Amino acid sequence: MNWFRRFMMGRYGVDQLSFAMLLLSMVLVMFTRGRFWFLAVLGFVLLGLAYYRMLSRNISARARENGLFLQYVQRLRGRWERLTRRAQDRTHRYYRCPGCRQQLRVPKGRGAIAITCPRCGREFIKKT
Ligand SMILES: [Zn+2]
Repeated sequence: MNWFRRFMMGRYGVDQLSFAMLLLSMVLVMFTRGRFWFLAVLGFVLLGLAYYRMLSRNISARARENGLFLQYVQRLRGRWERLTRRAQDRTHRYYRCPGCRQQLRVPKGRGAIAITCPRCGREFIKKT
């Protein structure tokens, strides 16, 4: 494995983004059939990109890409958690303030009520 270590010296290596690209490319290549053949091609392109990133010597650029990727995953996770929390909440409705886009949670089953946004003070009517 000495030659391998020498080969990888100064190269970026595997990170979360490359790992995700490898996984996705495997799924695309293995499960794509028939008229969706272009997805398999996309899989091979992704595979190539993943290798390119792993063998790259421009470490700061690759680290930056991975950072953006992790940020994006974090945002998706936050959104997913909000959605599941909302789906499990049977006693409240969720609205966005038309003034400032702040999310508001109001109790269900009160009929039409005037909601006052606690952030910007705007009042609007919604059915609950
Ligand atoms: Zn508001």
